[in-house]
Amino acid sequence: MTGELPGTEPVLRLEAVRKSFGGHPVLRDVDLTVPAHSVTALIGASGSGKSTLLRCANLLEEIDDGAIFLDGEEITEPRADQDAVRRRIGVVFQAYNLFPHLTVLQNVTLAPRRVHRRARAEAEAHALELLDRLGLAAKAGEYPDRLSGGQQQRVAIVRALATGPRLLLLDEITAALDPELVGEVLSVVRDLKDQGMTMVLSTHEMGFAREVADQVCFLDGGVVLEQGPPEQVFGDPTEERTRQFLKRIV
Ligand code: ADP
Ligand code: MG
Repeated sequence: MTGELPGTEPVLRLEAVRKSFGGHPVLRDVDLTVPAHSVTALIGASGSGKSTLLRCANLLEEIDDGAIFLDGEEITEPRADQDAVRRRIGVVFQAYNLFPHLTVLQNVTLAPRRVHRRARAEAEAHALELLDRLGLAAKAGEYPDRLSGGQQQRVAIVRALATGPRLLLLDEITAALDPELVGEVLSVVRDLKDQGMTMVLSTHEMGFAREVADQVCFLDGGVVLEQGPPEQVFGDPTEERTRQFLKRIV
């Protein structure tokens, strides 16, 4: 791209993205730029469009207007290879969604083997390395229902990492957890940040967003009302609605 230094291409960029459901606008001209190795936290009330934004970024929802770019390539144009795009993005949702009839190791190696066509031994070695890094090596042979919610969610993160994604999308990954299990999952996100993983996460954990995010994006009725470094959005919001939201939630 002209005028841009090599390596400064954002990993993800949304440009004037619009999305409606049944005539009801859910994302209204959303612009968002996610630089490499950065963490973006989406905050906002329930129904403000956080999940829809993440689902659009992963092409789980088709946008009505605007454009989304992954590593500079427009992924929302009709000719884009959607499966190839999804292979470059790891996603973790609120409910862990592990396959109950597969062991931890089988859950983690499923996509690398089936989608990325990696050899079994290679996929398993990589999975075990990741599980070990997240303190889950001893659980490799267990079925999900033998694990705590926090462990299951950490396995879901390992599964999302197993394909070596360029970008990780995390949608309220601690919302379904008992309070005492939230910390272990957030600490994994912290570690991934330290390792340079590019992430976009939606969260109601404001303290965590403040600590881990490089930029915070406040969504209000599908509009990005305020966006900036956490010190600014949390410490000195320019919008009255941001103040109201933070007062209610903190
Ligand atoms: P958040 O994650 O911030 O709570 P969502 O993105 O889930 O917000 O939802 C934003 C709005 O879009 C809500 O009003 C929700 O009811 C609506 N919505 C989300 N998904 C769908 C869908 N598949 N069909 C119809 N409406 C939807
Ligand atoms: Mg949501």
